[in-house]
Amino acid sequence: MKITHIGSVLLQPFPWVLVKVTTDEGIVGIGEAYHGAGVHQIVVDPRLQRPLLGQDPRHVDKLFRDMLRSMSASGFYQGAVMSAISGIETALWDIVGQALGVPVWQLLGGKFRDRIRLYNDCHAGEVETPAAYVEKAKGVEARGFSALKFDIDPLPSRRDRYNRCISNDDIAYYVDVVTAVRQSLDRNTDLAIDAHWAYAPVDILKIAYAFEALNLLWLEDPIPPENVAALATVKAATRTPICTGENFYTRFGFRELIQSQAADIISPDLAKAGGLLEGRRIADLADMYYIPLAPHNIGSPIETVATCHVCAAVPNFLVLEFHHLDHPVWDGLINEGPLIQDGHITVPDRPGLGVTVNEDFIRHHTRENLGFFRDMPVS
Ligand code: MG
Repeated sequence: MKITHIGSVLLQPFPWVLVKVTTDEGIVGIGEAYHGAGVHQIVVDPRLQRPLLGQDPRHVDKLFRDMLRSMSASGFYQGAVMSAISGIETALWDIVGQALGVPVWQLLGGKFRDRIRLYNDCHAGEVETPAAYVEKAKGVEARGFSALKFDIDPLPSRRDRYNRCISNDDIAYYVDVVTAVRQSLDRNTDLAIDAHWAYAPVDILKIAYAFEALNLLWLEDPIPPENVAALATVKAATRTPICTGENFYTRFGFRELIQSQAADIISPDLAKAGGLLEGRRIADLADMYYIPLAPHNIGSPIETVATCHVCAAVPNFLVLEFHHLDHPVWDGLINEGPLIQDGHITVPDRPGLGVTVNEDFIRHHTRENLGFFRDMPVS
């Protein structure tokens, strides 16, 4: 079997990047790359096409490394390039699974679970009062989700974004909102809070301490992402679990974070961190320190299902992010019907990823076609 073509498409309104890898035996693999600027163009860059075209797609790990070496003699890359490579790697696994007649979770070592638990990433809406958060939380819980997350970003006018400090008003706001939401939910409905990298350690700890009695699932990205040692001081100082990982690439990016035990839970985004096998490696590294895995995911159903295969195949999976409740394109993007039931996705048993793109549907939501639809002009 040989790879004959690689195409990508940028969708809208949400800028999902899908990847299609075609073979000479008629098997077509689909993947998704994180939606960073220009990622769909990198997918079709000759420096990524060259190591793949004419090669046997079943040698996934070798091709992963060949792609890296083709982009840089050092074989080291992060950012948008690693996102593009992650999307291609996922499509290669889809091909291998179809060629062998087995689901991707089987190729990753078999499964620990049949259903993948999701958490819904919520937004309060127009009004950011505790009552508005509670209403949203209870609505999502009523739809079957047993875990949810809120991003709480006090209005920019209320704080100085540059000194990373928090006012006493904002601490009170945080505590009021999160206490009200926590108390409104069933005790076994988990609640996570994302602080979006906004604070200095000494300031976020004021909030983390106030949260300790609330038994949160986690407090995410409490401080900026660049300094693992600083994060370790936060994690060591509070009983509120700390989660981070969406800014890290490959197992090498996670090495210091995991080995210094600077987070209680890690949240790699597999559409940027290196794809599915790299996701398995990151999960295994974390498992050596008994750290659970809660992947970041704002992808389409393709990335979401691809990530589910890894979540099924690793022991330390906790919960997977889901971001697009009631999104019109989400619901029509794949042919296999609604994915989510009772806040869970059943991992497909069909060969490969087990989901296929509804091409007629996404043609109407295409912003830029770069060889994904062969019969459509390259835009
Ligand atoms: Mg986040």
